[in-house]
Amino acid sequence: MIYFDKVTKFYNGGAAALDDVTLTIEPGEFVSIVGHSGAGKSTLLKMILAEEVPSEGTVFFESNNIANLGKLELNELRRKIGTVFQDFRLLPTKTVYENIAFAMEAAGAHEEDIIADVPHVLDLVDLSEKMDSFPRELSGGEQQRVAIARAIVNQPDVVVADEPTGNLDPISTYEVVQILKKINDLGTTVILTTHNKGVIDSLGKRVVTMDEGRIARDDASGRYVL
Ligand code: ADP
Repeated sequence: MIYFDKVTKFYNGGAAALDDVTLTIEPGEFVSIVGHSGAGKSTLLKMILAEEVPSEGTVFFESNNIANLGKLELNELRRKIGTVFQDFRLLPTKTVYENIAFAMEAAGAHEEDIIADVPHVLDLVDLSEKMDSFPRELSGGEQQRVAIARAIVNQPDVVVADEPTGNLDPISTYEVVQILKKINDLGTTVILTTHNKGVIDSLGKRVVTMDEGRIARDDASGRYVL
């Protein structure tokens, strides 16, 4: 469980980027975070990843106060969270297979597990035949599917996807959303930020709407209302 207890965040001098946010995300949920630019969505995600700490209030991941974690515990926490970004962030000099294998190596996986698991996640994102391609040889949608495979290969409890369809055409957007839904159906919590009204309306899942650092709406089966 992820729990924000009255979290306020001030960056240097400015207005509150998050203003008294209380929010619970249960294991296995699919939550979309929407809101205008500057509403506080990225700040919220950064708090979950422990890249920013609250100015006031507390963020809990499972039962741990994130602000109290030491370096080793922080690494452990981050291994429980897979991340996907708008700009894919694949390593350009590595093949699809190597990009995913590298994420497993970094987490200390054994070679035999890498050999078994990389094809499995590539199958899940329907890219088995692109295993030996380089990122530049793939479409944007395919690159994002590789990034999702990389995000899930270490079996995280949570996937955080920050505008994953922001650079994609409608068909690729649809494919990426279907894969995120599949991952969620397999039990992983998914936290998504998006500006795409069509994505939100087609998901039919929980929508948290942010406005000026506050939660303006929290709908169990939401539509995109801004
Ligand atoms: P969103 O992701 O919804 O666009 P952000 O969380 O990025 O919103 O930003 C919320 C507010 O915090 C904005 O006013 C933004 O200018 C401010 N902000 C975000 N990051 C920083 C930073 N590193 N330093 C100073 N202000 C920041």
